[in-house]
Amino acid sequence: MMTEEEIPIKGKTYDFSDAVKAADGIEVSWCYQCGKCAGGCPLACEMDLTPTQLIHAVQLGLKDLVHNSKTMWLCSSCQTCTTRCPQNVDVAGVMAAVKVVMQQENAEAKVPAVLAFNQRFLENIKLFGRTYELGMVALYKLKTLSFTQDLGLGVEMLKRGKFKILPRFVGSWSVRKIFMRARRQEKI
Ligand code: SF4
Ligand code: SF4
Repeated sequence: MMTEEEIPIKGKTYDFSDAVKAADGIEVSWCYQCGKCAGGCPLACEMDLTPTQLIHAVQLGLKDLVHNSKTMWLCSSCQTCTTRCPQNVDVAGVMAAVKVVMQQENAEAKVPAVLAFNQRFLENIKLFGRTYELGMVALYKLKTLSFTQDLGLGVEMLKRGKFKILPRFVGSWSVRKIFMRARRQEKI
């Protein structure tokens, strides 16, 4: 984990914090670096930049540093940081907004398995209107070629009936319309 002093001043671009703000309307300049977000984050120990450091890097427009971080890909969106922030900075929202900006810029995800999982999840929802776990896992495994990872757990879940063999279509057309509306708004 990097300390605040180790954050390099390379790759500085001044439009990056504006892009993050535009993606979700979050004002990162309110952050005064108290560290409460990082102090409560259950995954900070796995991150290369703590949530506090990531917010600081966004404030400074250090785009390359943020792009090369694993932090937002490891974030589980648990919202602990957002809840703890005395300045009402939506830290979890910044994590999501950074990923949106990165995808708009076709930047490489530092934890590609997470991006692959997110994409399979959304495709799944779009097609079936709800998650069809077995299909989602199969597509994820094909994408990441991680066929043996969690195999025992998968077999156990199948045995206990936690995976449905066949998908069910529930409100899929309504959900697809939501995707179409979001796509149209992205183009505006
Ligand atoms: S809790 Fe809020 S003010 Fe404190 S470091 Fe995190 S984002 Fe900044
Ligand atoms: S939302 Fe993400 S960054 Fe915030 S506390 Fe949870 S895991 Fe950590």
